[in-house]
Amino acid sequence: MPAPPPDFCKPPGKPVFRFAPSPNGRLHLGHALSALTNEALARRFGGRLLLRIEDIDRGRCRPEFVDGILADLDWLGIRFEQPVRRQSAHFGDYASALASLRARRLVYPCFCSRQEIRAAVMGRESAAGGAWPADPDGAPLYPGSCQMLDEAAAARRIAAGEPHVLRLDMAQAVAAIGDGAGYELFDEEGGRRFVAARPGRWGDIVLARKDVPTSYHLAVVVDDALQGVTHVVRGRDLEAATDIHVVLQRLLGLPTPLYHFHRLLIDADGRKLAKSRSSESLAAMRERGVSAGMIRHELGARPAG
Ligand code: GLU
Repeated sequence: MPAPPPDFCKPPGKPVFRFAPSPNGRLHLGHALSALTNEALARRFGGRLLLRIEDIDRGRCRPEFVDGILADLDWLGIRFEQPVRRQSAHFGDYASALASLRARRLVYPCFCSRQEIRAAVMGRESAAGGAWPADPDGAPLYPGSCQMLDEAAAARRIAAGEPHVLRLDMAQAVAAIGDGAGYELFDEEGGRRFVAARPGRWGDIVLARKDVPTSYHLAVVVDDALQGVTHVVRGRDLEAATDIHVVLQRLLGLPTPLYHFHRLLIDADGRKLAKSRSSESLAAMRERGVSAGMIRHELGARPAG
């Protein structure tokens, strides 16, 4: 009789889901949809549900917004496992990941300001007569100006205190992981479909800044792995960014979870709900008498409990 595979006797682990809001404002209906979709899929697949507070940007995140998030989720009746992970308590984890990429010479310092990049990229429009190159979020695609800087000269500029960011050399990173990078999308029925990643369209993304020593991309892949997340459920606005996450996971030797991207809610002007556009908060809805049950019903979620 052939030997059983090594995992034969181990019961398969439970799927792990997470909701990961940033405390830079109060939650709105779009966040409620994201949290409730995580809750629904975790229930459906018999999974665990974790909460992560993404507060790496200490300039924009505020403790009262963390309290607000906890109060709003509690009011909605969504129960998360404890403890809640707060990214600001784990900068060391992101620093180690960054150090390993630097040791492989996949990261370089960039001294260009946002204005300089805009000017360089948009200047090409008039020269070439076409649209300027943009990343999937519509931002000017960084043209790689600092990639060729002499290492000793760059070190001198850093030592002199010149402001800079650290960028991933995307072409080298893609070459390092080889062909076939991608991830599996999963649906409500448990169906799966492979999606090939196209990270090149993002160019050399920023991995760290002086004021924020990690980026969303780096922190999210490190945390998903450290928290054992198997199923990432988030809005379609983060679908394209997943291509970056797959590259970082492969470079850092981390597993790639399954992904599901839910619809986005739009306002009366047809734009995505956003804190920056002052979309009505859940707290304000609560104050004007909307109940958690009404929100669950409106968003097609099952009652709490
Ligand atoms: N913190 C991100 C946000 O609030 C979500 C991150 C994620 O789900 O990967 O938009």
